Amino acid sequence: MSATASEIAFLARALRAPRIAETAGALADRARDEGWEHERYLAAVLDAEVCARTCHGGENRVKAARFPQTKTLDDFDFSFQRSVKREVVSHLAQLDFLAEHSNVVFLGPPGTGKTHLSIALGVAAARKGYRVAFASATEWVARLSEAKRFGRLTDELTRLSRIPLLIVDEVGYIPFDPEAASLIFSLVSSRYESSSLIVNSNKTFSAWTEIFGDPVAVAALVDRLVHHAEIITLKGDSYRLKGKKDAGIVARATD
Ligand code: ADP
Ligand code: MG
Repeated sequence: MSATASEIAFLARALRAPRIAETAGALADRARDEGWEHERYLAAVLDAEVCARTCHGGENRVKAARFPQTKTLDDFDFSFQRSVKREVVSHLAQLDFLAEHSNVVFLGPPGTGKTHLSIALGVAAARKGYRVAFASATEWVARLSEAKRFGRLTDELTRLSRIPLLIVDEVGYIPFDPEAASLIFSLVSSRYESSSLIVNSNKTFSAWTEIFGDPVAVAALVDRLVHHAEIITLKGDSYRLKGKKDAGIVARATD
């Protein structure tokens, strides 16, 4: 290794930028062959490091978020789901709502795209550098009740508050006992005006009392959740049953 190459390796280590050391030599050869300006060479080396960090980090964050599948807005057929405008969701995907610490709520019957759209927004956030965590309401309750059992509920909520986006899927499929309802309430209030939530539910807010029990607590919960929020109500048939209507499967599946 030449003296300059080992100096670059040393400096890259000092900067904790290993990609610089890995790419500097090969890019220098290419720069000489192609007669690059010095600035172009510097930019290429820095770009390799930045790309290694952001591309890699982005995929790590997508993995860490524990999405059940990876979905994107490109896979979403807005001509099938006409109750939401593409522009509204594309605007959300710019992620201003995360900077504003506001929320997104998707309401609608099964199969209308709530989970899909929330994952798509979560993936966009993860790729843009935000930490994201996805789980069903039941899974969030299990996690918080475990923390509570060990006397660490406040610590857990504080830890979660450092994650800018939590997604709570499937609120409403299973009614909560009072303990579970109070844990969801703690989660929503701990994030109020400080970090964002995406919440998905198959039930309208007026039916949330059936899920959470106490109407006073529900009012307080919904109040905090929607004070700064985009509420998107999805309508229509289940995408899962698309094309199956004529085969008579719809009638059986919804019996
Ligand atoms: P929900 O959470 O509202 O029950 P999902 O988002 O899980 O519904 O959608 C069910 C399935 O149908 C998923 O595989 C999803 O990717 C797909 N899907 C739903 N709506 C659309 C759509 N408009 N375009 C493309 N795929 C869709
Ligand atoms: Mg769903």
